[in-house]
Amino acid sequence: MWQQKWVIGNWKMNGSNAANRTLLQGLFQPVNAAAAQVYCGIAAPNVYLAGIKEFAANTALAVGAEDVSQFAVNGAFTGEVSAQMLADVGAQFVLVGHSERRQYFQEDNTILLEKMQNSIAAGLLPILCVGETLAEREAGQEEQVVAAQLSLLAEADLSEVAVAYEPVWAIGTGKVPVTEQIAAMHELIYRQILSLCGKDVKIRVLYGGSVNAGNAAEILAVSHVDGALVGGASLQADSFAAIIQAAYAPA
Ligand code: PEP
Repeated sequence: MWQQKWVIGNWKMNGSNAANRTLLQGLFQPVNAAAAQVYCGIAAPNVYLAGIKEFAANTALAVGAEDVSQFAVNGAFTGEVSAQMLADVGAQFVLVGHSERRQYFQEDNTILLEKMQNSIAAGLLPILCVGETLAEREAGQEEQVVAAQLSLLAEADLSEVAVAYEPVWAIGTGKVPVTEQIAAMHELIYRQILSLCGKDVKIRVLYGGSVNAGNAAEILAVSHVDGALVGGASLQADSFAAIIQAAYAPA
């Protein structure tokens, strides 16, 4: 999977048992058809993970969580879901530090490092989400901001690193950076991961922010773009399937 393109959906706080089944049924064929070249996954709300895992058994679809508790050991943390629990119901990966978590739950590098470490200890692959706000980009601070967000990787002793670069201003807005901006940031992220984690580290850097069926092929062809993290367009089987296809058979 460290040589493949990745296409990961982020359902956010969406779904129902019935809607999930319909959506997944439309995905199994395109996911299986792409399996040799594309690692496909869905990050879903925790309450649905076990059901999705069971429904997706015998398919190539990976299942992940959208967040994980910062607390390492199960116990008196009402409402929290630990990395061990996510792994227990079959999650394979987890998003860490999505901008909505940073914005609404004040998640900073200290918390996110704990989440990364808990995930790794439980056998989950963390996908660290980074990205600047519009004000930060307009102030010319995007490289500084992303470098600071990545700096926690130095503490984690990692041999495999998955990062999603998601400019906050591109998430759910229909605005996408030009390919030169994506290429420049992904190259910077690669360089920083190599310098923080050593040259033998395995790396995947995904782009996220308004990826859709129409722009996926162009974005996925940008250098150092190893895949896509897809929000809105992952909620329809047709658009998510088209993005998966763009990852290995661009039109
Ligand atoms: C996201 O929230 O991770 C995301 C990329 O959303 P969207 O594709 O809807 O911009």
